[in-house]
Amino acid sequence: MNPKLSHLSAEQQNTLRDDYLLGKESVAALISKYKIDTKPSELVSLFPPVVHEDSACVYCSNEKLISNHSTREPRYHECAQYRGYMALIT
Ligand SMILES: [Zn+2]
Repeated sequence: MNPKLSHLSAEQQNTLRDDYLLGKESVAALISKYKIDTKPSELVSLFPPVVHEDSACVYCSNEKLISNHSTREPRYHECAQYRGYMALIT
């Protein structure tokens, strides 16, 4: 857990993250509402990565792909093969 979110319960963190992903309120409003000591551009970096349960790394058969904080962002896996593959296609 990020220390800047440690004053929030797990449930509050989930709600905050859902609100952020759904875009119901501005990031500045969420920071103020949840009393988080961060900048709007940095809030997303406080969340843990999203694990995509419906996915799998093509190199590591049982490992799920993750993405940074949003379902809209590219999925990847933290292995050398996948990093090499991503480097080729981007
Ligand atoms: Zn992998």
